[in-house]
Amino acid sequence: MKRVVILGSTGSIGRQALEVCRWRGYRVVGLAAGRNLEALSQQIAEWRPERVAADEALHGELKARFPWLRLASAEEVAALEAEVAVAAIPGLAGLSPTRVAAQTGKRIALANKEAMVAAGPLLWQEVERGKAEVLPVDSEHSALFQALLGERREDVAELILTASGGPFLREPQDLSQVTPEMALAHPRWRMGPKVTVDSATLFNKGLEVLEAKELFRFPLERVRVLVHPQAYVHGLVRFVDGSLKAQLGPTDMRLPIQYALSYPERGETPLRDLPIPGVLEFLEPDPKRFPALEVAYEAGRRGGVAQAAVSAADEVAVEAFLQGQLPFPRIAEVLAKVLERTPDLPLTWENLFAVDAWAREEAKRWA
Ligand code: NDP
Repeated sequence: MKRVVILGSTGSIGRQALEVCRWRGYRVVGLAAGRNLEALSQQIAEWRPERVAADEALHGELKARFPWLRLASAEEVAALEAEVAVAAIPGLAGLSPTRVAAQTGKRIALANKEAMVAAGPLLWQEVERGKAEVLPVDSEHSALFQALLGERREDVAELILTASGGPFLREPQDLSQVTPEMALAHPRWRMGPKVTVDSATLFNKGLEVLEAKELFRFPLERVRVLVHPQAYVHGLVRFVDGSLKAQLGPTDMRLPIQYALSYPERGETPLRDLPIPGVLEFLEPDPKRFPALEVAYEAGRRGGVAQAAVSAADEVAVEAFLQGQLPFPRIAEVLAKVLERTPDLPLTWENLFAVDAWAREEAKRWA
């Protein structure tokens, strides 16, 4: 029976990963979460994991509810003996446990795109040293991974990520009136708050472009985005002869999660007989309406620590927007300001953490 640890177990991806484990009969040996006591308690009661990480504020109550429980850090959970670690703690907070999963030779089912964006080449070094492997959970990257199977690298002309366009693809005209409630109402996906707001600015697609560049070690100028409101085609690969290969399927994260966990097997799921939509549209993204996408490309062109800087700045800007302290269109402006001031430093672990801290302060200043 496959042994799995879930980092970010009480979140949107974490819960869906647990559902996949139920479908497949996998054993969940470790859970790491933050502050959601009730959700985590239910998961502990169901799975009786060997180790659990949670915010310190929860420790007393968890111990009272489960006297047998062995509390640990997220890194210790990531180090447990297991075949797969689902990396679904958002932002830079997810990087350190993901790194440990790499060092301990696991398959990393990678949802935490920020880790790959900020630290791609460093993470790959750990993966190679630890004889680990990375399977994407992000639906677009899972699609590209699947479309690339069996193909020769030199035959690939372009990687194309699709974007649903989020809640503001066409309306409202004036984005300065957008409230957190409006931004959190994504038409296609139910996700955590940070990634949902990122989807509304399209910075999420920018992060995914950078994730694709790092994950597939592919030139940035040949990673493209197409808006596809139906969110049924998740990614396309264009080959040098002009052929396209796409991966299509229901808008349901449990599919890419299961694929990352069970690859190369495809187990049957209850989603098998869903209807195929009649209309599929593809549009170019509007750079005036969604300037955050271009900021991400610019960070990718800069290289070094620039990707880490914009990713950190985005965490601060999104939080400020959710707190009602920053108008929606200013998120992209803050990212651009921080990028403009980011020092040209090579990517090392030391520089990464220094720039991350600097970019957060800088973003607070502009927000
Ligand atoms: P959520 O906000 O729904 O969940 C986050 C999870 O991480 C929760 O379990 C939370 O715990 C936990 N967590 C947060 N901070 C910490 C911390 N410092 N230490 C330990 N645990 C922590 O996020 P999502 O599931 O939506 O997203 C997770 C990642 O996956 C993100 O990087 C996102 O970009 C990516 N992703 C998400 C998709 C989706 O459909 N949701 C699609 C593709 C990628 P608690 O709630 O208990 O506080």
